[in-house]
Amino acid sequence: MEHTRVARLKDIVDFKKEIDNAGRILQSGGLVAFPTETVYGLGANGFDARACHAIYEAKGRPSDNPLILHVADRSMVDAVAADVPLMAEQLMAAFCPGPLTLILPRGSRVPDAVTGGLDTVGIRMPDHDIARAMIRSAGCPVAAPSANLSGRPSPTTAEAVLQDMDGRIPLILDGGPCSYGVESTIVDCTGSKAAILRPGAITREMLEELLGDVELDPALAGESSIPRAPGMKYRHYAPKAPLTLLEGPTGLMAQGMQEELKKRANRRVGVIASEEVAAYLQAFLPAERIVSYGKQGDLQSIAANLYESLRAFDDMPMDSLLAEGTQETGLGLAIMNRLHKASGFRSIVLSDKLRKG
Ligand code: AMP
Ligand code: MG
Repeated sequence: MEHTRVARLKDIVDFKKEIDNAGRILQSGGLVAFPTETVYGLGANGFDARACHAIYEAKGRPSDNPLILHVADRSMVDAVAADVPLMAEQLMAAFCPGPLTLILPRGSRVPDAVTGGLDTVGIRMPDHDIARAMIRSAGCPVAAPSANLSGRPSPTTAEAVLQDMDGRIPLILDGGPCSYGVESTIVDCTGSKAAILRPGAITREMLEELLGDVELDPALAGESSIPRAPGMKYRHYAPKAPLTLLEGPTGLMAQGMQEELKKRANRRVGVIASEEVAAYLQAFLPAERIVSYGKQGDLQSIAANLYESLRAFDDMPMDSLLAEGTQETGLGLAIMNRLHKASGFRSIVLSDKLRKG
């Protein structure tokens, strides 16, 4: 078993030493976990098919689920894309570096191990000093999915990476908690109209302001079961105990949770909820059974805390978990997408229940 070292980049000297070291590991075909503004990534040299295969092995990831190529600057995009359509240029000018992945026609140097054999490639320029310095030091695009075991919630701290990757990779660069906390928005730029394949912090509303009408992959709206981002078809983001999502108006959540808890009176149930609902439930549940992800409606905080909340009960013997949903507009679309998948689409819709009587 490989020894995994967590490198804390405390000062400028550490920074330079550890970035150089990470660059060397990547150049020689090794894996490095690194922070970005979205979640931690598990990186390999994106031109080295063997190194990319090692990512699939470390994560236990299905081989048809492609990786995203991370670049340090605009010039690297031309090294991995065969063509950059106008809408992609507009998106890059507006949002890159940032939490946005563009699907573009695949360049000839990109191996099948990155794209899962597709004729397109996902490209992202992270808005994070450590990530971009590491890519520059490696001198190549860095292929990376999230640094979790396949199916688990994505890691937003170095500790969460270590939980999943200990003994599987040589190095984790610790950059502290990620600021956004959900993965990048994936936008397919290869058709006549931009299409969102995975919602993220660059919201549909932001994209439409720039480009006009933007499509949502029908699989995200539940209208088709075959998503165009292969990764979205897998059960993902799942905590160890089975999770049920409560959906509906915020005003019904506290009472809705209380009713669901009553039905599960003899079971060990954990709750992931807003501060407001958590405060209300204190009278009915011991404190260690409640995790709060932020204030109702504060979507930025909820996104940033989401995956840590989903991991919070993993060390406790829980029978089941209940999670409070959010609105589905703006950043809420990304949050609810992850919660639906984390729950395996097991939802209780509170407004429906009330209407039924
Ligand atoms: P992760 O960030 O760990 O969720 O993994 C990367 C995500 O990007 C997965 O959901 C992939 O399916 C998606 N992805 C990467 N490349 C492509 C591509 N060429 N076309 C569509 N989706 C892609
Ligand atoms: Mg992932």
